[in-house]
Amino acid sequence: MPVKHRVAGSSPAAGAQIPYSFTMQEIISFFQTFNFKITNKGHIFVISGFSGVGKGTIIKEILKNKPDMYFSVSYTTREKRINEREGIDYYFIDKESFKKMILRDEFLEWAIVNDHFYGTPKEITLKKIEQNIDIILDIDVKGAIQVKSKLPNLTTLIYIIPPNGKELLNRLYKRNTEVLEQIKTRIITSLTEINYINAYDYIVVNDDLDSCVKEVMEIINVQKKSSKVRSLSITASKEAE
Ligand code: 5GP
Repeated sequence: MPVKHRVAGSSPAAGAQIPYSFTMQEIISFFQTFNFKITNKGHIFVISGFSGVGKGTIIKEILKNKPDMYFSVSYTTREKRINEREGIDYYFIDKESFKKMILRDEFLEWAIVNDHFYGTPKEITLKKIEQNIDIILDIDVKGAIQVKSKLPNLTTLIYIIPPNGKELLNRLYKRNTEVLEQIKTRIITSLTEINYINAYDYIVVNDDLDSCVKEVMEIINVQKKSSKVRSLSITASKEAE
């Protein structure tokens, strides 16, 4: 219940100066009614990496270990693959709808990747942050940099690299979800991404899945603990005497 008080609302300088018209006893008894509550905010963990590096599997493992984390489902204009589900892997929409969403400022970030539009919905992400729910984003370097510049204290960028180029090519061919032309586009995209990797907070090698997941989990735990973004709310429990 809001307290009817004179101290905090007495003048714009009330926070800095104790108003002279109150006795010390009045101020002490008022202060005794204060409750402090520190609320943490959710943190964003961006996981990026070359196409075929195994991000999807790593993210699935993290979500198994940390079911409280929220995986942000992106919007995309690319074709749905045979194994993908609407609303779980992506929201598949056409270019016109995507552009309308850009105009309505509905993306936290968006980018063109491999000739298709991809974007992270803004409203749900910001809501999760306020609810102190940590978020995982599987997005490319251009998107990652946008998120970091908008929410620098709440964002950690993690880039996953393969042990070597040969291994990455093997994984891409084995995945069998793309035709050769698409694989070529993805390799070219990976090569251009190399220039941005230094903007990331962490680089993790996916040589062995278990140790890679373990390393990413450690990063999440450390970053979460050291997150400085908190908000303080002050309420007064009863009316000041
Ligand atoms: P794929 O088509 O293989 O699912 O994804 C291609 C690339 O687009 C991946 O690097 C993935 O991280 C990235 N991507 C997926 N969703 C988003 C998004 O919402 N924003 C941005 N910037 N990149 C995304």
